[in-house]
Amino acid sequence: MPDILITENIIGPAMDALRQRFDCAFEPDLWQQPDRLFALIPEFRALIVRNQTQVTRELVAAGAKLEIIGRAGVGLDNVDLGAASDHGTVVGFAPEQTTNSVAELALGLMLALARMIPAADRDTRQGNWNRHRFTGTEILGKTLGVVGFGRIGVSTATKARALGMDIVAYDPFVDPDGLNVMNLRARLGSLDEALAQADFVSCHLPLTNETRNLFDYDRFGQMKRSAYFINTSRGGVVNEDGLIRALREGLIAGAALDVRAQEPPAASALAEMDNVVMMPHVAAFTREAQARVVATVCRDVAAVLNGEAARNYANFSRPKK
Ligand code: NAD
Repeated sequence: MPDILITENIIGPAMDALRQRFDCAFEPDLWQQPDRLFALIPEFRALIVRNQTQVTRELVAAGAKLEIIGRAGVGLDNVDLGAASDHGTVVGFAPEQTTNSVAELALGLMLALARMIPAADRDTRQGNWNRHRFTGTEILGKTLGVVGFGRIGVSTATKARALGMDIVAYDPFVDPDGLNVMNLRARLGSLDEALAQADFVSCHLPLTNETRNLFDYDRFGQMKRSAYFINTSRGGVVNEDGLIRALREGLIAGAALDVRAQEPPAASALAEMDNVVMMPHVAAFTREAQARVVATVCRDVAAVLNGEAARNYANFSRPKK
């Protein structure tokens, strides 16, 4: 009986070891073929995905034997968690294994914007030597607005604090007397306050019905005209038309986007703007983070298939079916 279906390119020593122990179908392009995925899923006891496979209620229902869905990463917006719970299927994920890498990229993007590194690089490669055009701004003493003060938000704030930044944060679910708030001497306030005070706004929200399109033209209008916006969370939290209009009208100084509303994105005016930095959703793509993610998910899938408990789970540690 087949055990594990892998529908995206998830590789590494931990995956090699898993494939030796279990009967695995490695189908890295299957996320692009939903009909085939539906045809195959009823046979398998485990499904391993990244963020591109849409694990809908219908797919979970079709997976009659599914004991665990292993999500190689942290965002669960492509997995219907409620459906998995209703069908007694464990959802395993890697909640902390990418945190540091994403926070490091958020910081890198902040510096890239502040010192115009990509634009200066492009200009200098063309044979120019425009020193005054690339007069940047320091981050020392500036205020970082962290929207979503969870694992990645706190890690980004911790690094920014070490570089001499002040922290304002917006997260209605965080205890204002909690340790992270105290240690970072963060000012926890409303979104309006955070946007008004920040010199850099770094978004670390999950994509939910509440956060979709949260950053629209009006929100960007609440930021300082000198402020920069960085998004390493999910593209859907930004209304890209609103962002383009805000950049054109100078409502903010620039933006860095690791993630986009549609991935891969269609041609966009953003690509023509020198004060925009773009990455192809790679915040979690470091050798270290990927090794940790794959090891974590493979370990928990193996555990559940052996009748043991998962260690990192989003609903329950053992299947209820
Ligand atoms: P987390 O759950 O630890 O933190 C998210 C925080 O957002 C929580 O503290 C929560 O209280 C807060 N939040 C939720 N809804 C909110 C709302 N409506 N308004 C304000 N705050 C709200 O998650 P994390 O590990 O910090 O990851 C954050 C997100 O980063 C993930 O959901 C994922 O989508 C994204 N991510 C992206 C990459 C990448 O490659 N670019 C990699 C990893 C994670």
